[in-house]
Amino acid sequence: MVSPKPLKLDIPKDTSLPETAYAFLSELISEFPQFNFIISSRFKWKYPKSIYIDAKTPTPPLYFYLQTLHELGHALSNHKDYKTDVRRLKMESEAWERARELIKTHENWTKTYDITYNEDFVEEQLDSYRDWLHQRSKCKICGLTRFQKKSGKWLCPKCDLIDNRS
Ligand SMILES: [Zn+2]
Ligand SMILES: [Zn+2]
Repeated sequence: MVSPKPLKLDIPKDTSLPETAYAFLSELISEFPQFNFIISSRFKWKYPKSIYIDAKTPTPPLYFYLQTLHELGHALSNHKDYKTDVRRLKMESEAWERARELIKTHENWTKTYDITYNEDFVEEQLDSYRDWLHQRSKCKICGLTRFQKKSGKWLCPKCDLIDNRS
């Protein structure tokens, strides 16, 4: 018989993570031992197996749970890096879809942690990505909307293509 892997979570001293959040993370660690759960100052997925969890802002608790499940969603989708912003936005909604599935298949999370998929919160998160995308796409010289090539390079239709014709 294989002995279970001990649960391990390195928690910095200055975090104020509530006990229920610890319990939740412990559940994730035992169910998904293939990933590293790391307490950090921001939420982030880093391919191939690191899930960074922001322990400083766990309020309201639901947002903490949802963000954590979102990063786990990236992990389970095996997301690597991205070259284009459009691809990145697609990964963002994919990760949220995974989070939704996880909540659906873990009924005990709703009972124990009061976790429900919050459409409004998710839309807000995706909107902030869309805004960010829109800001990035704007040409800083002329203000036109630029486009991004497959390589990740941005081009302005005016400044890069028309004014620079040789
Ligand atoms: Zn994400
Ligand atoms: Zn321009």
